[in-house]
Amino acid sequence: MPATAPTGVGHLRGEESFPAAARRALGDAQLRRNLRHATTTIRAKSGAVIAEVPDWPELRAAARAIKTDTMARLPELLEQLEAAVTAAGGTVHWAADAVEANRIVTELVRAAGADRVMKVKSMATQEIGLNEALEAAGIEPVETDLAELIVQLGDDRPSHILVPAIHRNRAEIREIFLRAMPGVDPALTDEPAVLAAAARRHLRETFLSTRVAVSGANFAVAETGTLAVVESEGNGRMCLTLPETLITVMGIEKVIPTWRDLEVFLQLLPRASTGERMNPYTSMWTGVTPGDGPQAFHLVLLDNGRSAVLADEVGRQALHCIRCSACLNVCPVYERTGGHAYGSVYPGPIGAVLSPQLTGVADNASLPYASSLCGACYDACPVMIDIPSILVHLRAQAPHPRAEAATMAAAAYTMDRPALYAAAQRAARLSQLAGPRGRGLPPPLSGWTASRDLPEPPPQTFRQWWAQR
Ligand code: SF4
Repeated sequence: MPATAPTGVGHLRGEESFPAAARRALGDAQLRRNLRHATTTIRAKSGAVIAEVPDWPELRAAARAIKTDTMARLPELLEQLEAAVTAAGGTVHWAADAVEANRIVTELVRAAGADRVMKVKSMATQEIGLNEALEAAGIEPVETDLAELIVQLGDDRPSHILVPAIHRNRAEIREIFLRAMPGVDPALTDEPAVLAAAARRHLRETFLSTRVAVSGANFAVAETGTLAVVESEGNGRMCLTLPETLITVMGIEKVIPTWRDLEVFLQLLPRASTGERMNPYTSMWTGVTPGDGPQAFHLVLLDNGRSAVLADEVGRQALHCIRCSACLNVCPVYERTGGHAYGSVYPGPIGAVLSPQLTGVADNASLPYASSLCGACYDACPVMIDIPSILVHLRAQAPHPRAEAATMAAAAYTMDRPALYAAAQRAARLSQLAGPRGRGLPPPLSGWTASRDLPEPPPQTFRQWWAQR
C-alpha cells in the first residue's frame, strides 16, 4: 500500500481527539456566535445564486464525471501535465510527502537568493507546515490573503478552508492588528474598510520588495500545463505576477484533463463557496512567458498520502474535493464546534473523511464520528462527494471502544441464537412495562442514552405476530 502522510511534520493530526477538543469549543460562546453568523450568511448567499442556475444538477454530475475519470487515470494525467509544464518553460518536482516538499521549496528559495517569500492562500502548504519549515531555515513567509494574514499575525490556526479567520470577529481582528502589525495606526477602528486598508498598506511593501512567491493551485490542466488560482481579493494575483520566481505546491489530485473541463468547475466553485456568480480574480498561467510575470516557475506535485487515498475505492471520492467549503457551511457539527476541534487543516465534513485517510485512520480515529450522518454535506457538495458513505466506511476501520466492541459481540451472539433472541425481546418488553419511555440504560451503557431516548419496543414482536397466524 502507498505510504500515508508522515508524523511530526505538517498539520493533519490534532493533539487531542475530536470529542475532547469539541467539548472545549462548545464552551466558547463568542466562537459559536461568530460561526453561526458567518455560516448562516454564506449559506443564504450561496443558496440564492445556486438557485439562479437552471442546469446546476447537470453541472454537478459533469464535475463528478470529470473527477472520476481523472482519478481513474491519475498517473497518466500527471505525466501529461509534467510534459506540458516543462515544454512551457516550467520545472516540475515530485514530492512523496511533506518532508520532501518542504525541502524542495526551501532549496528553491535559497537558490533564488531570497530570505522572504510572499504566499498566496494555499491549503497544501498549510497541510505540509511549509511556514514552519521556511522559518526554521531562516526564511520569512508572509501570508498575503487577508484572513491568512489575520491568522498569521494572531499566531493562530486557520479554522475554515475558505475563511481561515471565521472564528474571529471585527473587534478581535482590530486587537490583533494593533498588537502585531508593524506601523499600524493606533487609532484603528473595527470598520471592515478601515481594517482592509490597514492590511493593504502593510502588504503593499511586501508585494513590491519580495522576489519569490509561493502559491497553491485550484486546478492544473494536463492538456495545456496551465495552472489556475481563484481568489477574491486580488492579493493572490499580485503574488502570481510580481515576483521573479514563483513556486506552486499542488496536491496531485488537483489535475484535470482538459482546458474545456475548467468551465464546469469555474461555474460551480464561486457559487458553492463564496456565493458569488463569478470568481472576482481567476489567475491562470502556463510555464514562463519571457518579459511578462515570473521568469522562473516551479511546480511541486505533492502526494503526502494521496496515493493511499486513491487506493481505497470507496474513500478515493474525497480526492474529488475542490475545497469550496460548502460542506462546512451546512454542517451542524462544524457550526457548533468550529474548525480547530478537527485538529487538521481540513475541518468539517471533508476534513472528517480526508484527514483520516491521508494519515491512516488510526491517527485520526475520532474524526469519522464527527458527524450526525444527516447528509447535508452530500446535498451541498458541488462535485457530489458522498461524504456520509465514506464516513461509515472509515468508521468500520477505526478502532472501537472496548465497551462498544463487547456490546456488539453480545448482540451478535444473541442474534445468532433464536431462543436467546426471543428471550431478549421478552426482557426488553418487561423493562418497558417496568418504567416510563425514555428511561436511560444502566452503566456502562448510560452514556449512550444520556442524550438519546431509548427506543420503545413495539407492542408486539414479529415473532408473536407470526405465531398468532
Ligand atoms: S467536499 Fe464538496 S462541499 Fe466540501 S469542500 Fe470539498 S467540494 Fe466543497
